[in-house]
Parts: sequence; structure tokens; C-alpha cells
Amino acid sequence: MSEARSVLQPGATIGILGGGQLGRMLALAAARLGFKCHVFSPNPDSPAVDVVHRVTCADYTDTQALDRFAGEVDLVTYEFENVPAECATFLAARVPVLPDPEILATTQDRLAEKNFIGALGIGVAPFVAVEEPAGLKAAIEQIGRPAVLKTRRFGYDGKGQATIKDGGDPQAAWREVGAQPCILEAFVPFAREVSVVAARANDGSVECFDVTENEHRDHILKVSRVPAALPEAGAQEARRIAETIAQKFAYVGVLAVEMFVLRDGGILVNEIAPRVHNSGHWTIDGASVSQFEQHIRAVAGWPLGKPIRHGRVEMTNLIGSEIEDYRRWLAIPGAAVHLYGKKAVRPGRKMGHVTRVFAD
Ligand code: AMP
Repeated sequence: MSEARSVLQPGATIGILGGGQLGRMLALAAARLGFKCHVFSPNPDSPAVDVVHRVTCADYTDTQALDRFAGEVDLVTYEFENVPAECATFLAARVPVLPDPEILATTQDRLAEKNFIGALGIGVAPFVAVEEPAGLKAAIEQIGRPAVLKTRRFGYDGKGQATIKDGGDPQAAWREVGAQPCILEAFVPFAREVSVVAARANDGSVECFDVTENEHRDHILKVSRVPAALPEAGAQEARRIAETIAQKFAYVGVLAVEMFVLRDGGILVNEIAPRVHNSGHWTIDGASVSQFEQHIRAVAGWPLGKPIRHGRVEMTNLIGSEIEDYRRWLAIPGAAVHLYGKKAVRPGRKMGHVTRVFAD
């Protein structure tokens, strides 16, 4: 049923798998368009729970809860891509699920994802699959050092990855990532990191937001700046890559493509996020239509908006205890402060963000 191409009417209920801040911002955008949201999350303390019409608090493997949820929503989407594939497939037999659950299978596995991107003729860092520790030595001989060992599944914000430098112990890296199937990837001496957030509607139309430049701290996104400092040809190429991926997936919704820009201007794709993305948060205050609204429009079968940027934009994540500084941000003229309502402050946890828009 996931290929159903129905058009939702205002008042319809959109089911969201996952209850994090992305779900919260999706639900706020959906409410503005007249939809109700029903979040399915295993955690009752999730940020999205505070702003939605209904919540199902159950595990993603709880088929009874999933069945009831499917009966109470008009459509299901995700804010979190690591839901078990069986959960999405179970729902898709009962209610339209967008983006298509099959896309999850590709993007949940770094090896499948890299093979998919490579088959489109789009550059990725040289990589090789490593199934067991014994294979690591040959992999390093092939890829060279430094190299980055990444788990095939469930990696985010630098979790599940370890860099193997000259003289570093590969077996220690293998243990560090939890001794599980991995890929070993060449370390990319990139000039900058950028991303493109793209929306594709079910009629095949695609709208890309302006290329965003991302600065990470401890592998976690800290600041996004728009537009990225790229020559126009580079920006066009980055958007073309995102559009090619969205079209090949016949994607419906918003996806983000993270890329490395090399010193010679070449572009390699790092990874695809089949959902709204932290590097697109600037669009709430910095563009005529946000990534969250675009996603809701796309899955609802509505036409996409034409994103018009209001100026030069800078988005700063408030990570861990930085949230305690929120009053300082409130005092800054023009700063749009977003707090996710998370109760527990933990190092590395994304607690909120601030967007500032400047005259271009
Ligand atoms: P990922 O979880 O793959 O998005 O990686 C998180 C961050 O680690 C990226 O945004 C980069 O800053 C860094 N990183 C990941 N892979 C590589 C690589 N092959 N070469 C250099 N830096 C990398």
C-alpha cells in the first residue's frame, strides 16, 4: 500500500515513527497546515510528545500497538530511520508509508548505501567491507591509512566509527566500534563538509534547498552556514547529486545528502539521511518554506513550496550543557531560539538550536 498516491485533506492524521526533535518540528509544521499528528515512540519523554494530538508509547516490535496505530492514522512517515525494517513493512501492509520502507533497507546499511551511490556514478570515498577482524589487515592494505572504520548499521554523530591512523592498532578500532560488520573507508582530507536537503513530491518534482556548509565538533554538527562557500558550479553539482539520488529512489519526502568537498572542488557523498536533517533546521526561520513543511507537503501529496532564502543564515546547535545559555541567545536581536524540551542534559545531546538570518 505504500505506493498509494492519495492526497491528504486538512484535518487528516499523519503518523510519525519516532519522537525526537525532528518529529517535534515535523508535527509543528504539520499543525500549521491543518494536519494532526500521532507519534509512535518507545519513549514517553520524547520531545515530539509535547506537541502532538496523540501518542502511542510502545516498542517498534509491538505488532498489536502498530496495528492500532495504523488504524488511527491516514499515513505514516518517519523522523528516525533506524526503525526496524519489519516495523515499516508491517505498517505498509495496512496504511501508506512514505518514504517507501524499501529505501530504509538501503540507507540503514552503509555498505548497501555506498554501493547504491556508486552505481549512480556519484563519487564516494574508497571503501571495502570488513566482516570480521581477520579481514581488517587486508582492508587496510587496500585502503591505506589513515582510514575510518564504520559500523554498517546504527551509526550517527560519529558513533560506531573509529579512525585508524599510522601506527594505530586496527584491532583496538575493531573493538571500539563493537566488533561487528563494518566498512573501512579512506580518510578524506576534505576542504569543507556540505549537505543538500532535497524534497521530492510524488509527481517527480524536486526542490533543493541551498547548499549548506556544516562545521562539526566531536563528530556532532555544531554550526550550519548558508550559502556554502562554493563556486556556483560546485553548488549546482551538489544539488544535482541530491536530485539524482531522490529520483533514483523515487523518493517521496525530504532527504539529506551529506558530502565532502575536496580541495580541487570534487565532491564525494558521505551519507544519505532518509528524513529531515539537522543541517536543514535553518530553513524554519531562514526560508519561505521549511524542510519540515516540505516533507509534510510531499507525503501529503501536496505541491512542494519553492524555497526562497531570506538572507545569509547561520544555525548553531545547543549541545549538552550549552542549553543553559539559552537566555543569552534570547537577548540577541534577530536570533530565533528553538528549545526541544528535553529533560535530561547529557554531553553530546542536541538540546536546541538558534538561527540567525543576516542581510545577504
Ligand atoms: P558520519 O557518521 O559518516 O556522518 O561521520 C560523522 C563525521 O565524521 C563526518 O561529518 C566527518 O566530519 C567525519 N568523517 C566521516 N567519514 C570520514 C572520512 N572518510 N574522512 C574524513 N572524515 C570523515
